[in-house]
Amino acid sequence: MTEMICILCPRGCHLSVGDAPGFQVTGNFCPRGAAYGREEMESPGGS
Ligand code: SF4
Repeated sequence: MTEMICILCPRGCHLSVGDAPGFQVTGNFCPRGAAYGREEMESPGGS
């Protein structure tokens, strides 16, 4: 489980991202946060 903050919009949701392979994301207010959490786990800092 990894904690991170979604930076895709000003809401700044606190995400909890589970381990591979699922990367289950909780704490996201919208679907973009789930995608962001997974991407950060797979390629931290962006592609
Ligand atoms: S999860 Fe959605 S609502 Fe929350 S900060 Fe990210 S983009 Fe904004």
